[in-house]
This record gives sequence, structure tokens and C-alpha cells, in this order.
Amino acid sequence: MPELKKDSLMITHDEEIGVVYYPAKGAVSTTTPRHAQVMEQVWQDYLEDKLSLEDRTAFEGYVERSFANKPDLPMMKYTNLLETRTLGRLEILVANKCNLNCRYCYAHGGDYARESQVLTPELAKKYLRALFTDRYTGVNGVMFFGGEPTISPDTIRTICEFFEQYSSLGLIDKMPYFTMVTNGTLIDEALAEIIKKYHIRVTVSVDGPPEINDKLRVDKVGNGTFAKIERGIRLLQEVGNPPQMLEVTYTTLHHELGYSKTDIRRYLQEHFQVDNVLIENCELNGYDDSLTCHTKDISGEADEKNNKLAVLKLRQKLSNSHFGDLACSAGTSSFALNPNGELYPCHQFTGMNEFCIARFVDGEFDFENYSMLLKRISMVHKCQSIQCEDCWAKDLCNICPATVLLHIRRRQGNISEIYCEREKQLKIQILLKTAKEEATKRGGIQT
Ligand code: SF4
Ligand code: SF4
Repeated sequence: MPELKKDSLMITHDEEIGVVYYPAKGAVSTTTPRHAQVMEQVWQDYLEDKLSLEDRTAFEGYVERSFANKPDLPMMKYTNLLETRTLGRLEILVANKCNLNCRYCYAHGGDYARESQVLTPELAKKYLRALFTDRYTGVNGVMFFGGEPTISPDTIRTICEFFEQYSSLGLIDKMPYFTMVTNGTLIDEALAEIIKKYHIRVTVSVDGPPEINDKLRVDKVGNGTFAKIERGIRLLQEVGNPPQMLEVTYTTLHHELGYSKTDIRRYLQEHFQVDNVLIENCELNGYDDSLTCHTKDISGEADEKNNKLAVLKLRQKLSNSHFGDLACSAGTSSFALNPNGELYPCHQFTGMNEFCIARFVDGEFDFENYSMLLKRISMVHKCQSIQCEDCWAKDLCNICPATVLLHIRRRQGNISEIYCEREKQLKIQILLKTAKEEATKRGGIQT
């Protein structure tokens, strides 16, 4: 076996179980807490070169035997937007303006600090024809985003009809699935019918009960929005296409008012009968950073530990047949289309010239600057990034590439201190939880 390096293993335990994770094989083995504790010490000594040659060899042999039946995962092959024929995801910013003015909004009240613009149905058709006539033969998923996409329901309907027509004529491989992220306040009966007709999977943003939501998610004159959000959700439920997910931005204000993540999740699940509630920490965004929660006491590890979604995601990762060193396909097989015809890796980069993938000029998209941009994106390939070199969490890490790239752009300090420790702790907790569930299924912990 080749010499083990710092990122070759992660050994951990709690009072019930011990876990050894071998990233290169995407494999986990379980043991008793006592055994794991001993191994942790040996592993530390191995890394610090404190073991005798005999003990080093014995430890390597032990690791080799433990994972002998698992092959190394091949590295995931990434295409780029010039090579691929089928896009992974197309985000369409239906409007880069919003009817609300949420206090923490990274999109600067929906317009990304640029002139507000709405994607008209006519423009949408022009852009889509240019993309799907010669360049791409299909797209797996189309996501309606904003600003607030429901500002222009006609555009949403036109885009759905475009894909319906292109797929029925065989001009694209298949009908994509549709998703939408919305604040829910503008959903009326007519839009609810469009959403139902095209099976659009809707995520509605809501930050908790009125006493907290209405302090954070406010309209342009500062009024709370809970009642309008509720109306939109109820309409979707009435047409039989309820929201797939509710999304909460957890802020320091939640914490100050005494709402834990668990409180918020429970409230929303019971009040709206929606099971999937995703709770994200409010991250640094340069807009209202007093709401940012990145300190340990409020980042909610205890709650995340019980987060079924996180366990599910980890299981999926562990069952992948490739080692993936990019947390997201933004800019490599996916992009965001803006109302003005600019393409960016995703909505987070909107308006930043250096991240512009292509512009719509004279009836087609001009990808001239894309090769330069790919070099920038390679900075977040974890197997190429210096910061990730020693990190065992490369394959599991979900830190958003936009967060990292924009953090570097804003020179906001040490990425590892702000994001990585939390990410690794979270992954350890979820690995332990997943291992316990698996061990219970197998009838106990094997050593
Ligand atoms: S946790 Fe940080 S260092 Fe580790 S893979 Fe993720 S970004 Fe890289
Ligand atoms: S880069 Fe981040 S924000 Fe953008 S699509 Fe990927 S995960 Fe989402």
C-alpha cells in the first residue's frame, strides 16, 4: 500500500460508535468507540512520524485489509459548456427585480445592484432558440429564479410552452423538469394553474412564524409578508401541486428571539404540512452582515445532526461511483440566463463582469471569454486547490463554489476558519449518524 497522507483517512468516534472513512474509495467502516479511539491515536502518531517502521507497516496493512474489497473511485470527468451537448441545469432569472426587500438579501433587493429588468416572453424565446437550435440538444432541469420569478407569470408560461413544443417536435432530447424558487407572495389562481400544468416543483422562502418572518421578509415599504406567503402556499395546495420545500434563512435575529432551528422547522412543518424544510445559515454577503450567523453557538450543528436531508445527501455521495472534486456544476454544465442576455455560472455571480460566461449579441451567444472563466472556476476544484490539499472531506464537502469564489473576490478573510471547520464537523456528525443507522440495520456494530 502506498504511504498514507493526511487526507487519506478520517477516524472519529462518539460514545456509541467509531468510524473510519477512506475518501479515495468513498468507503466507511465502523468499529467500537474504544477501538476507534486507539486508532485515532495511532493515526496521529503515523502522521507525526512517531511510529516504528514495523508499526507503520502494520497500520498500513490494517487499513488495506479493512478496505480491500473496495476499489479506488475514479475521478469524476467534468465537461465544459463548449463541449457538452446536454446542459445539467438552466437557471432562468425571470426578473432581476423583486417585490420584497428582505433584510439579508444578497441580491440587493432582487436587482443584484443593477438596473431592474424583466425577461419578456419574446426575449425568452429568442434566447432559448439561440441556445437550443444549434448549441445544446437538451437540458435536464430548468429553474425559474429571480429577483422574483412570479413577477412575470407570462414568461414562465412561455418558457414551459417553448420546451413543450421543442420536445414534441424532437428538437431537444426530452422535456426538462421545472423547479422554481419564489417568495410565494404573488402566486394567484392563474399562476397556480400554470405551476400545476407543468408540474413545477416549487420552493417557497419563509423564515418562520409571523413574529420572526415579518421582521426579516418585508415588502418595499417594510410591511411583513407572512399572510401573503400563506395565501400562495394554500393556493398551491388547493390545485394539488403543493410546495416541495420551504426554505428558511436562519439569522442572528432568530437566535436572539429564542428560536432554534428545530423550533422553526417544527412550526413550518405543522403549520403548512410541508415535510421538507431546508434551513440555511445566513452567510456573509456584504448586505446586512449583522444577521450573518457563522459562529459555532448559533450555526446549529446539533440540529443539523438530525437533519434527514443531510444524511440522505451523504448516503448519495457515498454510493457515487466517482470521486467528485467540484461541489456544483455551475459554470461547467450549468448556467444562469439573465434578462439582458448575459450568462453567468449561477445567479450568485450576476452582474460581475469577470464571471460572465457569454453575452447575447446579434442573435447568438458569444462565448469568447469563457476559457478565461474556466481557469477561475478551477480554483474551486478541491483536488487542485491548495487550501483543500490536506483535507479528508474533499469528496463530501458541499461548500458552495460561489461562496468561495466571492469570498476570495471580497477579500473577506480566511475561508478555512469561516467555513471549513464547520463543514468538516458537520460531515463528522452526519457520518456518525449514518454509520449508526447502518449498524442498527445490520444488527449491531462489527469490529
Ligand atoms: S472543507 Fe474546506 S478544505 Fe475541506 S474540501 Fe471543503 S473547501 Fe476544501
Ligand atoms: S455555485 Fe453555489 S449558489 Fe451557485 S448553483 Fe452552485 S451551490 Fe448554488
